[in-house]
Amino acid sequence: MNIAKNIQVAQEELSHLGVKLIAVSKTKPQDAILEAYGAGQRAFGENIVQELVQKQEALPKDIEWHLIGHLQSNKVKYIASFVSLIHAVDSLKLLKEIDKQAGKHKRVIDCLLQVYIAEEDTKFGLDHAELIELLRSDELAGLKNIRITGLMGIATNTPNEKVVKAEFYELKTLFDGIKQSFFRNASYFDTLSMGMSADYKIAIEQGSTMVRLGSTLFGGR
Ligand SMILES: *Cc1c(COP(=O)(O)O)cnc(C)c1O
Repeated sequence: MNIAKNIQVAQEELSHLGVKLIAVSKTKPQDAILEAYGAGQRAFGENIVQELVQKQEALPKDIEWHLIGHLQSNKVKYIASFVSLIHAVDSLKLLKEIDKQAGKHKRVIDCLLQVYIAEEDTKFGLDHAELIELLRSDELAGLKNIRITGLMGIATNTPNEKVVKAEFYELKTLFDGIKQSFFRNASYFDTLSMGMSADYKIAIEQGSTMVRLGSTLFGGR
């Protein structure tokens, strides 16, 4: 795998389209991240808190770290001082903890709400009703150290492109509706994180603004 080359190719493809690239470096060694960094990549995604913390400590300080995996409330404190965007927020309880820890560092932490769109029976993500309920809650309005900047979703892992397309379409439609209803004057609500190595082209067709690519950049799988 020529990581630097892969980054350049992906950046070229995506920058044209105004789509932001998150290089998913989970399980990859620091050398691989530095190679991508050398090619100009600054935004990296990890899914395990402990691994994220170790890499953040060891690697260049201008890296923008994204937590893309499920986050447990009791681990928020380890990443609150530096995390750039938390992609997979799926409860008010978690938002309250992020708010509390962000406040300790006098920061506002950007968060995406993870919406459940796949056919697969996964535990994570909000369904539509839960999403609306969360956005309507008075408690949310009181959280001043978090900012909801968009939505995130993971499509079903299937070769059936129709299924994947329909799921991404659903998420984009939901994103537009939520923006209209809850974030009409909030220009910061602009991020739709959808698309991984296998399905990012479909995700972009359906309106993704941020893709999370691992294996196409770093190899593996
Ligand atoms: C691992 C992971 C990715 C990247 O997956 P690839 O198929 O390697 O591109 C993207 N998003 C999430 C949430 C992940 O856990």
